[in-house]
Amino acid sequence: MSDGLKGIKTIRDFELKGKTVFLRLDLNVPMDNEGKITDENRIKASLPTIKHCLEQGAKLIIASHLGRPKSANDKQYSMEPVARRVGELLGVEVVLMEEPSSEGVKHILYGPMKSQIICLENLRFDEGETENSSELAQNWASYSDIYINDAFGASHRAHASIVAFPELMPKKGIGFLIEKEIKMLDGLFDRPEKPYVAVLGGAKVSDKIPVIEKLMNLVDGFVIGGAMAYTFLKAQGVSVGKSKVETDKVKYAKEMIQRIEARGKTLLIPIDHVVSQSFDDTKSVRTTKDTKIEENEMGLDIGPQTIQLFSKYLAGAKTIFWNGPMGVFETKEFSKGTFAIAEALANNSGLKIVGGGDSAAAAEISGFADKMSHISTGGGASLEYLQGDRLPGLEVLRARKQSETMP
Ligand code: ADP
Ligand code: MG
Repeated sequence: MSDGLKGIKTIRDFELKGKTVFLRLDLNVPMDNEGKITDENRIKASLPTIKHCLEQGAKLIIASHLGRPKSANDKQYSMEPVARRVGELLGVEVVLMEEPSSEGVKHILYGPMKSQIICLENLRFDEGETENSSELAQNWASYSDIYINDAFGASHRAHASIVAFPELMPKKGIGFLIEKEIKMLDGLFDRPEKPYVAVLGGAKVSDKIPVIEKLMNLVDGFVIGGAMAYTFLKAQGVSVGKSKVETDKVKYAKEMIQRIEARGKTLLIPIDHVVSQSFDDTKSVRTTKDTKIEENEMGLDIGPQTIQLFSKYLAGAKTIFWNGPMGVFETKEFSKGTFAIAEALANNSGLKIVGGGDSAAAAEISGFADKMSHISTGGGASLEYLQGDRLPGLEVLRARKQSETMP
């Protein structure tokens, strides 16, 4: 297991009054073609730390990346709608700078600053951000007193605002969101209440192998759905038709089935499916009567018997970790299984943690989001953390052990 929050200061450890706080947030929200924010969860998740800074009387600079702009002229990725929304939600003025390394910040900071927030333009408008540029970091350090990272979803990347900048700063720490994320995710490893079940699904077995390995000795059972399940069914000799199978992972799946059996753990895989002849063919959709899928069909969701089997098993769990949708939930015809699993988690009174970008989205759309103990905002970062990788954005904030600083 990682060192969790050991040696990392939190925003509570700093006296913020009158200080310039540079707050790195993950405000990378999805938007439609007209620049309208379609899901503001990441903004809302950032508000507690922003509010704390304002209440403590800090001079606040917020910064985030947004999408993947190709250059600074890619104005569809401007932070303008995000900055405006932050202002609306808090009822304060948010001033948007024209570029990430704007000199204008100093003019505002050293002028008669009232209760307002300075928002930098999309950090990726400056190529120094993804290049982890120390020059860009120095620009920010020239006016900041305290660096706070609350961008969990970006902390697995060695970018300037995540690594190069805090490297320069003596005063640095995390905000409330990262603190909560790490505590919740660590709870999956630190004496979790049993029975402990991992529900895995999604696109690929290969994506999830490190997490499976990490959980193998901890959980009492695995529930496997989504495209992943067909590699396992194939490993058991079941005909899966045109379903997505990772041929080079069939052997791994076979071994995993044996290891689970040898340890006396439970493994549940689908016993029926919702199938069709292709992803976008909603006319030939049918539900199979058993595990078998015809040659010309592909499995796109778990079937009703499987929903019942999985839900019944999940009802008895005390800790559940869910990563990966049970089917192609983006299409209505193939969404039932995923939403039924969200419901099964909602009905369980234990600890229920959801990780992964698509799983988080599915949990939100299901309408059961508020019944989960925690839905990670981290996307890929949450999986990297869970599989035991050290996140560069956290490591840079950790106070070095005495032995490491001695000559
Ligand atoms: P997360 O982002 O939560 O880690 P993944 O990215 O691993 O999840 O998987 C999500 C994707 O898996 C979704 O886009 C979904 O459509 C796809 N998926 C789920 N079940 C199937 C299936 N049976 N066949 C093909 N794709 C599937
Ligand atoms: Mg995904």
